[in-house]
Amino acid sequence: MPKKDKLAEYKKKRDLAKSGEPKGKVRSSKMPIFVVQKHAARSLHYDFRLSIGGVLVSWAVPKGPSTSTRVRRLAVRTDDHPMRYAKFEGVIPKGEYGAGTVMVWDKGTYRNIQKKAGKKVSMETALKKGKIEVWLKGEKLNGGYALIKTGRGNQWLLIKMKDEHARARGNPVNTQKKSVLTGRTMRQIAADAKKGK
Ligand code: MN
Repeated sequence: MPKKDKLAEYKKKRDLAKSGEPKGKVRSSKMPIFVVQKHAARSLHYDFRLSIGGVLVSWAVPKGPSTSTRVRRLAVRTDDHPMRYAKFEGVIPKGEYGAGTVMVWDKGTYRNIQKKAGKKVSMETALKKGKIEVWLKGEKLNGGYALIKTGRGNQWLLIKMKDEHARARGNPVNTQKKSVLTGRTMRQIAADAKKGK
């Protein structure tokens, strides 16, 4: 039997020739990476993505990640995205799936920190079991974050773990509004797209 195409959903939903988004290709990266994209679609949300098994496993987080350990953010698992999506910034045209402005809000590497009875749990197993613990090294987000499946469909929770990077106040979503890729605001990305940049 042919191996299941992890990006089948991604490709099925989109007309990549029209949307300008990266083509669907599974490829592994040497260092595990993460990216958080701010996406002004029908409703504004943040797409939290972790590279696992050659694709970017993705969650849509309506309120974005928090630095407070007391906040649990709803994270809805969405279709896996190709690795190259981590560098995608621009505007998905009207009429296409997910139409709206996309910003690379944060990016970096991550480390799998989950252990069970002193042994490492692979990311694939963690994903299957619905309990992920990673240490992020980004430009805005740092430290431990947990993703926990709630048991209802695609619903997960994104929670900041207790460590020296936890902050009760000053949510980065509210204070940091520029792309880590280009330094642009959402408005500038949209304006540039109009000019064909
Ligand atoms: Mn999105």
